[in-house]
Amino acid sequence: MYELTVRTRFAAAHSLRDYEGPCARVHGHTWHIEATFRGCRLDRKGMLLDFGVVKAKIKTVVEELDHNYLNEIKPFTGSAENNPTVENLARHIYNRLKQDLDKNNLPAQIASVRVWESPDTSAAYSEV
Ligand SMILES: [Zn+2]
Repeated sequence: MYELTVRTRFAAAHSLRDYEGPCARVHGHTWHIEATFRGCRLDRKGMLLDFGVVKAKIKTVVEELDHNYLNEIKPFTGSAENNPTVENLARHIYNRLKQDLDKNNLPAQIASVRVWESPDTSAAYSEV
């Protein structure tokens, strides 16, 4: 089994609904993302996935979030359950990358997405 991990970052604002504390007010983070892909088969060039292709896919997802107020973007609108928490962001990015990989029939699967909200705090989402 091979794993590839790609890191990127974006800046965005959010606030937490039904939360008591400073995070209920609008504030921003530079969110750091680590997306890990997994697969058993390498192509004839010895690659699981081309980093250029992977970075382009992550860029598409990140551009939807970058320099936005996340509470106004689906799926983070509505109730506190949909709060743009670091956990929900990790799941959202995971699902978007999974959809994209499935659609393009690539030989690797998304394994996990970890989102860092600060240098000391992160959450990861995976389905395995
Ligand atoms: Zn925050």
